[in-house]
Amino acid sequence: LPEAAVEALQSEDVAALLPEPGGESQKYSRGVVGVRTGSERYPGAAVLSVAGAGCGLAGMVRYDGGATDQVLAAHPETVSGAGRVQAWVVGSGGGDQASDALTRSLEDGVPVVVDADALTATPRPVGRHAILTPHAGELARMLEVPREDVEAAPLRHAREAAAAYDAVVLLKGRRTVVAHPDGRARINTTGVPWLATAGAGDVLAGLVGALAAAGLEPFDAASAGAWLHGAAATLASHGGPLRASAVAAALPQAVRGLRTP
Ligand code: AMP
Ligand code: MG
Repeated sequence: LPEAAVEALQSEDVAALLPEPGGESQKYSRGVVGVRTGSERYPGAAVLSVAGAGCGLAGMVRYDGGATDQVLAAHPETVSGAGRVQAWVVGSGGGDQASDALTRSLEDGVPVVVDADALTATPRPVGRHAILTPHAGELARMLEVPREDVEAAPLRHAREAAAAYDAVVLLKGRRTVVAHPDGRARINTTGVPWLATAGAGDVLAGLVGALAAAGLEPFDAASAGAWLHGAAATLASHGGPLRASAVAAALPQAVRGLRTP
């Protein structure tokens, strides 16, 4: 494997990557992110990934999964049904339908954020428009190695997976790592241990999808997404416990707090 240096994004790096709407902007030009997570049985995953996707960094969120009623009740800004998008988010809470959603989303040729139930259904190689977002247990299943091995050497395993899948891999954990198949890697420095809570990963997947829809390269969308997600968690936590929806709600504040380059 080629091993370029490992970087850590700083606040001003994230600021420089984010889109800034101008007078000519309209919702379609700012990017449409499509979400195919959740199901009738697991509507919460859909509500939380749409919360992350709908942080305002993309112009529109389309929801095309099995939990439309719950998504619209929680997020009335969402447009339901299929249509043109600039990025897809698939996997969490998708159950049996996750692998079908993955296949259909990959066919579109736009960036696809692949999480949770869709990870083990991901073809190998899948290609560089995919952004895989496993935690250590999910990456261990993908690589067929013990979870402890991934936890002991997250950077090495994220790089191995990026090479094997020919895709960007965002390995979540205490120190989130983002690896590119060309050997580049970034380590995330933001966040708090309170972020280890159910649904936090769903918010992240939606956010990364929004950034990709807004035009960031998959590697930048993944690493800027991890940075903002951790920063929002720190803001929402105030040193105390968190719920995943509070992380999503704090995302605009995390964006406002970026140091401009
Ligand atoms: P998931 O496992 O999909 O629910 O995602 C969990 C989220 O919590 C990811 O964004 C992880 O990076 C984050 N996380 C998990 N454990 C820790 C920890 N000990 N410290 C900080 N963040 C964590
Ligand atoms: Mg998860």
